[in-house]
Amino acid sequence: MNKVFNLFRFALVSMALLLMLVGCGNDSAPVKLQGRAIGTTYSIVTYNLPENLDAHKMQQGVEQVVSGVNSVMSLFNPGSDLSRFNAYKGKDWFEVSRELALVVRTAKTISLLTGGAFDITVAPLVNLWGFGSDGRPDKVPSDEQVAAAKADIGADFVQVRIDPPALKKTKPGISIDLAAIAKGYCVDAVADWLKQNGVSDFMVEIGGEIRTGGTKPGKAPWVIGVEKPTPGGRSVQAVIELSGRAMATSGDYRNYFEAGGKRYSHIIDPVSGKPVSHNLVSVSVVEETCSMADALATGLMVMGPEQGIRLAKKNKLSAFFIVKTVDGFAETATGNFPEHKTLK
Ligand code: ADP
Ligand code: MG
Repeated sequence: MNKVFNLFRFALVSMALLLMLVGCGNDSAPVKLQGRAIGTTYSIVTYNLPENLDAHKMQQGVEQVVSGVNSVMSLFNPGSDLSRFNAYKGKDWFEVSRELALVVRTAKTISLLTGGAFDITVAPLVNLWGFGSDGRPDKVPSDEQVAAAKADIGADFVQVRIDPPALKKTKPGISIDLAAIAKGYCVDAVADWLKQNGVSDFMVEIGGEIRTGGTKPGKAPWVIGVEKPTPGGRSVQAVIELSGRAMATSGDYRNYFEAGGKRYSHIIDPVSGKPVSHNLVSVSVVEETCSMADALATGLMVMGPEQGIRLAKKNKLSAFFIVKTVDGFAETATGNFPEHKTLK
């Protein structure tokens, strides 16, 4: 368990598998980097480095970006912007870094779009159900405990200002947990650094959330696998081409606990105050940025198969839903989700 960024400790195993088709008839060797980021791992693949950049320099640059994100968003660093804002109980504007203000703004946009299903103020419930820093509960929380935790939840109680960047809470008990969007945000930050440093063809993956730029050599597209939603082995459910875009996946098949024969997911419905319990097992979303994809995937996962698919269709979101059926899994693709090949 990673204590440095314990918040993300459940995300150690990625939810999407990368199919990196190395070679493919051309002779340029890929440059691959790996390391740790926000409680999980990162991997980067690129083929052409600009003249002033070698793999070592690139790794240093990436590590700097990653530690920058940690210093802004980690709840296990009491000095991070986010921890300081959570500790602040006043109602005035609280100055934070521009990055934090931007990611909170994106989160609020997705809250609005998903009718409150995605909510970065859900921490009291996450803790109550044993997915926060307090560890697993001995028994299932009572309705009274759920109601008490819900009193301090609501994305509307957080306001954002970008210029100069600041956050404000209109209820002192409110705290922010960016677990469901920070991996995507970190992918975007690394992708931006790569582009700014002349790397235009790349694939960045952090804890299963992915963004690609350009193509592989010979204009070949990047090919990404969507993981089969089973807790045990890791195999691929479907394969898509993803160039110049991001994909994030939310699923309830890895991170859960069982009590009395029932499975409790780490994804909490802020309306019921309980872990989601429906037969939607995984949602993957393709978007321009990985922050948006990450937040949307979690929001749609909360909404479940009927409401989630309805919202995705209505708003032309590019999403891929895997629903558990009596004899296997049923897939639904919406919007412009890339044409995919299902692997049996
Ligand atoms: P994963 O870690 O599986 O990639 P997600 O991106 O879906 O997961 O984020 C899940 C985490 O987000 C949970 O562990 C919890 O900390 C937090 N969370 C749970 N429910 C919600 C919700 N309704 N809105 C926003 N964040 C949530
Ligand atoms: Mg997410």
